[in-house]
Amino acid sequence: MNNTLMHKLLTRCCGLLSGLAILLLLHSCSTENALIKNGKSDYKIFISSSALQPEHYAAAELQKYFHKISGYTMEIVHETKPGDKLIYIGFSGAPESLLKDLKPAGFGKEEYIIRSDGNNLFIAGGGTRGTLYGVLGYLSDYLGCRWYTRDVVKTPEQTTITLSKIEDRQKPAFEYREAWYHEAYDTQWALHNRLNPSTKPIPDSLGGSYITYPFVHTFNNLLPPVEYFGAHPEYFSEIAGQRKDSQLCLTNAEVLKLATKKVFQWIKEHPEANVFSIDQNDGEGYCECKNCKEIDDKEGSHSGTLLTFVNQIADTVGKVYPEIKLQTLAYAYTEIPPKTIRPADNVTIRLCHYNYCSAHPIQGCNHHKPFRDRLDQWKAISKRITVWDYFTDFAHYLMPFPNFGAMKQDVKFYADQGVIGLFAQGNNVPDNGGGEFSELRAWVFSQLMWNPDQDGQVLIDEFVNQVYGDGGKYIGAYIKLLHDQVKPDSVYFSIWSQPTEVNYLNPETIHQADSLFAQAIQATSKDMATAARVELAYLPVLYSKLYFYSIGGTAYLTGKDMPEAFARFNRIIKKHQIKAIGDVPQTYGNLDKFLEKIEAATTFTFYNDWLITGPFDNEDQKGLGTIYGPENAFNASQSFIGKGGSKVAWRKHEDKTSGYVDFSKLFTPSENVVAYARRTIHLPEAKTMKFGIGSNDGIKVWINGKLVLNRPVSRKAEPNQDMVTAPMNKGENTILVKVDQLKRGWGFYLTEQAGI
Ligand SMILES: [Zn+2]
Ligand SMILES: [Zn+2]
Repeated sequence: MNNTLMHKLLTRCCGLLSGLAILLLLHSCSTENALIKNGKSDYKIFISSSALQPEHYAAAELQKYFHKISGYTMEIVHETKPGDKLIYIGFSGAPESLLKDLKPAGFGKEEYIIRSDGNNLFIAGGGTRGTLYGVLGYLSDYLGCRWYTRDVVKTPEQTTITLSKIEDRQKPAFEYREAWYHEAYDTQWALHNRLNPSTKPIPDSLGGSYITYPFVHTFNNLLPPVEYFGAHPEYFSEIAGQRKDSQLCLTNAEVLKLATKKVFQWIKEHPEANVFSIDQNDGEGYCECKNCKEIDDKEGSHSGTLLTFVNQIADTVGKVYPEIKLQTLAYAYTEIPPKTIRPADNVTIRLCHYNYCSAHPIQGCNHHKPFRDRLDQWKAISKRITVWDYFTDFAHYLMPFPNFGAMKQDVKFYADQGVIGLFAQGNNVPDNGGGEFSELRAWVFSQLMWNPDQDGQVLIDEFVNQVYGDGGKYIGAYIKLLHDQVKPDSVYFSIWSQPTEVNYLNPETIHQADSLFAQAIQATSKDMATAARVELAYLPVLYSKLYFYSIGGTAYLTGKDMPEAFARFNRIIKKHQIKAIGDVPQTYGNLDKFLEKIEAATTFTFYNDWLITGPFDNEDQKGLGTIYGPENAFNASQSFIGKGGSKVAWRKHEDKTSGYVDFSKLFTPSENVVAYARRTIHLPEAKTMKFGIGSNDGIKVWINGKLVLNRPVSRKAEPNQDMVTAPMNKGENTILVKVDQLKRGWGFYLTEQAGI
């Protein structure tokens, strides 16, 4: 019963009944018992003084949130008196009437029970954090508390907290749960959302974490090349007869001895760790020595030598530390399981789901079939599989990345497959957050990793509506707008996709997104904190517009609108202290370079309207030097004999989405060929002009019939790789471009430089 109703009832009753009758009425009105009624309570929180530190924290946490919700501070006691009304936290000191059949030893490390007979409440769990998880589960599942982001915590306000009968025993679907988003590494946030990350562990005082030491790619930790390679090159990989320090030689007896010793040292030095990793360095370079090759050939995979090696260490470790687990990778050259070798019982396989398809869930498209098969094969030989999966665009953290389908369904898929741990790699960069929907992703993952039977879409909707307030419905529509476009089976994008490669970043979508965010920002304009969050969610749309602007996509952003968009982008990234925008600082991840590129683009204009013709032959890479018809006198209606004898003619090409003239999409065939583009420039006066040229691959440029650039080269195109100046005539001037195709990609940029 809510307070207003109670108040009305009391007021109505007072005129008619005596004081005693009111009390009786109050009692009979209460069909449910209340832990706190109208801001008052007879209950106390009981915790045994001998309870673990995290259990004391759990009791304090319950007290804190009771106060936040109702304004009442419930006393915490360590002694019981007959007749006390108590909330029992932890097994220790709980009465038989509540314990009944429960045995603390029967609870898993993170398993808990919430039990109430309607009068008393009892919350207890196993291990160091089960009880604390139980209290957090009670606050969340029964009182509606939520920890969406480090700033957005929802606690309902109500002066009465009722207590009904409860019998709720829970444990997480995965024993290891880590969402690798910067936003997930706030200790309080991670704790409340019951993640147990290794990267920034929850301290022991708060129940501890699931710590893997060293985290991954540990060969260099086991036998550092600086220490061993000089004196013992035979400890390392033999590749084409040469020893290289890329990986270890896993059949060398000394390597096994030294590595085993090192693992024992790790175990001693890191009592906090649950798991110790023995796995290859990132990259290739496995050992091909006679002994290694023999095992790998027999096992049909390099996981043959790796598992043989890890099993031997696991055998020695297991005799001394039966509780300790070792972990190794099924990744890159060890992804395929061995034919006959089986992982020891104390060895965990960390299988990576790398770069298949981000548009669809694992069960949603055939791009994932090789991975599904791989998982089946590993499942057949191991009960201890954790998965390392990837849920962001590593080339562009700020690019819209509509992979919520995978996010919603893959966690459940893994749970159903019996996977015991999940590492969801997002865009965690130290001291840097703000990747596309990072907070939303981190929260949804945390909820699903605990209980994957929840509806992911319901969780997303809840987050969007609570965190973006009145802007939520527009952001929900934006999310739908993007995801509707990636539903068809034919759509594919990956964790390294470029904005130019994805179907959903078309000008129409970006303009619709702009309009939805304008409405979201308008709707939240009176609430600064919510408006700031909406603006952060808008950042990927701005990023896309600026990205396309920098390559001549005037359909996304015109020169006129660019300064405002650029200033806004800068303001948002400064406000949210965003410093990294991709995983590879040398190329995609460099914010300064990105900003420089955008600013530079204001000083030139892309030519994106041409007459084009081709393709012509480029056998033996002679095409660039061969004079074909288009290099002779121009006639717009003339046709030529192209590659393979086909008839080709001049045709118009105009593309306002990009200044890149992508010959590979405009001509067939598009390999071992050359093609031409031609345009005219009308000038009121003669003057000297400067042009920027970028190409994939070699390029020739003629201005008014004179060759001004001859660059036989194999390269990836960037705007302005070469600069040319040319005297231009009053009236009509012509530019003729010829580009050859050598390796992947084929096309060019040509820009007019301002102010010379
Ligand atoms: Zn070897
Ligand atoms: Zn797909």
